[in-house]
Amino acid sequence: DERRILQYQITLYGDDERLVMARDITRLHQLEQMRRDFVANVSHELRTPLTVLSGYLETYGEMADQLPPRLGRSIGQMQAQTQRMQNLVNDLLLLSRLEIDQGGQDHQPMDVTSLLNSVGADALALSEHQHTLTIEGDYPAQLVGSEQEIRSAISNLAFNAVRYTPAGSEITLRWKAFGQGACIEVCDDGEGIDPVHIPRLTERFYRVDKGRSTATGGTGLGLAIVKHVLLRHDAQLQIDSHPGEGARFRCVFPATRLSTSATPPRSVPT
Ligand code: ADP
Repeated sequence: DERRILQYQITLYGDDERLVMARDITRLHQLEQMRRDFVANVSHELRTPLTVLSGYLETYGEMADQLPPRLGRSIGQMQAQTQRMQNLVNDLLLLSRLEIDQGGQDHQPMDVTSLLNSVGADALALSEHQHTLTIEGDYPAQLVGSEQEIRSAISNLAFNAVRYTPAGSEITLRWKAFGQGACIEVCDDGEGIDPVHIPRLTERFYRVDKGRSTATGGTGLGLAIVKHVLLRHDAQLQIDSHPGEGARFRCVFPATRLSTSATPPRSVPT
């Protein structure tokens, strides 16, 4: 009555000999499922108390000028920490939803250039216009997928570009043909990342400099979210960076994810 999950490994020896090994990974699969459900449930349950807390803190924050200065400052700290917890819980919930859902429900052609413009505007607002932003997005094909998920992936990359580079740095968002398909690139000319860290950057909570990324408001889940969104779109994340030479995050989509059906603008008779 129980379905088992088997993992096969086939090794070829010469032309006609092969070794087939089967491993029963049912238990491993169940444990992984339990971990995902647990994280999703805990995150969900934490949302309500955090919303209540932040509501009260907002009310006290509005009364800060009537309170002793030390108390006013403590309320500010409590608001910042509550916001951090809310970001973390929201990211954990998003990540477990991405892992649990099979994807494929919400697949519409989207206009990547306007998406990049809108994400770019949010990134500039985050940087309080201290960064320079360039958008290169005249590639005509549309991308087929979940616009909400792609937006959250590109926002994570663009916000990182703001948070991990000094004021005055240049950030570029690109949508262009690449290989057989197309890619969205998020590039910056900041301090870059030592290549030893690159293979681990998409792990949950992996940070190059823990103190710094906590101070910049990150949850440590941004690149894990990017990786899962891309997996659900048959796409891959390529990271290229060297210390002192900036960083390039490239989301590579296969041709099957492109739609060129957008009709060219009709010329209006004058
Ligand atoms: P975090 O919330 O810590 O930003 P992420 O998963 O988004 O988590 O990123 C993981 C780590 O990758 C960051 O802590 C940072 O050290 C590094 N990183 C990400 N983007 C950049 C970038 N554009 N330049 C330099 N380092 C970066």
